Amino acid sequence: MNKNGADASDFLPWYREGLRFECTGCGGCCTGSEGYVWVSDDEIAGIAKDLGLEIDDFGKRYLRRVGNSKYALLEDRSTGDCVFLFGRRCMIYDVRPKQCRTFPFWAENLKSKKNWEAAAEECEGISEDAPLHTFEEIERNLD
Ligand code: SF4
Ligand code: SF4
Repeated sequence: MNKNGADASDFLPWYREGLRFECTGCGGCCTGSEGYVWVSDDEIAGIAKDLGLEIDDFGKRYLRRVGNSKYALLEDRSTGDCVFLFGRRCMIYDVRPKQCRTFPFWAENLKSKKNWEAAAEECEGISEDAPLHTFEEIERNLD
């Protein structure tokens, strides 16, 4: 406790006790309204390699350029499905981009309890029955 009577833990975010989540593989976050699944150069190289494609080929088939230098995965304009979503399964699960690996622990969802509850309406894996992710684990996702 400091001289003002505050504990160090008083300055930690609202989710300092951790949050409960376990992906059910429902595919809900891979579809829906228009959005961007951003991919870095390293991720592009990793996914292309996994699929046995040259980077140029991979780009032509699966990427869209946004602005001058950013890339996102293609999506079906009518359904909003990510190009790699087949049925409810991600076809590149082991090499999926960080944006996918870290959902729902995104800064915008963690901004407030209200935002987290809004995310829970879209993601069935956020549940009181799911395993607890510690504060430290959650913070690592934000790096
Ligand atoms: S919406 Fe949630 S539970 Fe469903 S696939 Fe995405 S992260 Fe998993
Ligand atoms: S890459 Fe996989 S996990 Fe990410 S949005 Fe597409 S289907 Fe979903």
